[in-house]
Amino acid sequence: MTRTRTQALLATLALRPLQCDGATGTQLQVLGLQSGECCERWVTDHPDRVRHVHQRYLDAGADLLTTNTFGGTTLALAAHGLDTRAAGINRAAARLAREVAGERAWVLGDMGPFGGILEPYGETEPATAAAAFLAQAAALIEGGADALLVETMSDPAESALAIAAAREAGAELVIATFAFQRTPAGFRTMMGADAATAIRAALDAGATIAGANCGTQLSLDDYAKLTAELTAAAAGAPVIVQPNAGSPERDPATGRITYGTAPGAFADAAARYIALGARIVGGCCGTTPAHIVASACKNKKHAG
Ligand SMILES: [Zn+2]
Repeated sequence: MTRTRTQALLATLALRPLQCDGATGTQLQVLGLQSGECCERWVTDHPDRVRHVHQRYLDAGADLLTTNTFGGTTLALAAHGLDTRAAGINRAAARLAREVAGERAWVLGDMGPFGGILEPYGETEPATAAAAFLAQAAALIEGGADALLVETMSDPAESALAIAAAREAGAELVIATFAFQRTPAGFRTMMGADAATAIRAALDAGATIAGANCGTQLSLDDYAKLTAELTAAAAGAPVIVQPNAGSPERDPATGRITYGTAPGAFADAAARYIALGARIVGGCCGTTPAHIVASACKNKKHAG
C-alpha cells in the first residue's frame, strides 16, 4: 500500500527537523501588493506572482510551503466583499502551492483567525466561526493541501474550533500555532493563555504538531525560552516555531515597518530552537527567502 504524502511528511519529521517557509505578505508587497489590498485575492488575480513567492521559498530549501490564505475564511474575506469567493480562493491557493511543491515539498493550507472575537467576550457565535473554518478547510484540502496550519491564534477556544473543523473536513494532519507576547507573568497570548494551556487545548482538539508563530514583541532570545516552554508543554508531540525576523520597528522617515534580524542571526537562532527540541522551524513577519536559505543550510546539518 502506498503511503499518503501526509504520512511521508510525518515519517520524514521523525528522521530530521523540517524547514518551513517565511513570510508571504511582505514578499507580495515587494511584488506590488498595496497596503489595505486583499492579499488572498492575488491567488486568482496574480497567480504568477504568488507562484513566484512559493518557488523562491522552495528554492531556498523549504520543506513546507504555506498557502496564501491567512485571511481566507468567509468571515475575514467579507471585509473585502469577497466572502462568496472564499471556496474558490482557498482551492486556487492550495493548487498553486501544490503545483510549485511537486514531490519536493509539502503544502500547508493556512488558516488564520477569522478576525472577530468569540462569545462571551465578543459577538461571534462559535457555530458561525466553526462553519467558516470548515468551509475554508474543505476547500484547502480539495485544492491539494497536505496538512492544515491553524496559526497566529490568541484564543485557545478559536484555535480548537478551527482544528476540529480541519479534522471534520478530513485533514490528515493539523498543525496549530499561537502568537505569544511577553508579560510580567511570562509568555501569554493576547487572550491571556500561557503556553501550556494553549498547547494542551490544541492537542486535545486534534492537532498533532503545535507551537508558536509571530509574537510582535518577542526577540529571538525570548523565542528560545518560549521553545523550551512549548517543548515541555507538548509532552512529546512535535513542536513548531516560526518567529518574526526580530521585533518590528517603524522607520520614522518613511513610516514603513522594518525587521532588523539578519539571515545569519535568524539561522543561528533556528538551530538553537532545534537543539531545544523544536522539530519544525520557519519564519513569520519580516522573514525572506534569504532567512530561509540560511536556516535551511544549518537545519540540514542536523539531518544526520
Ligand atoms: Zn508574524
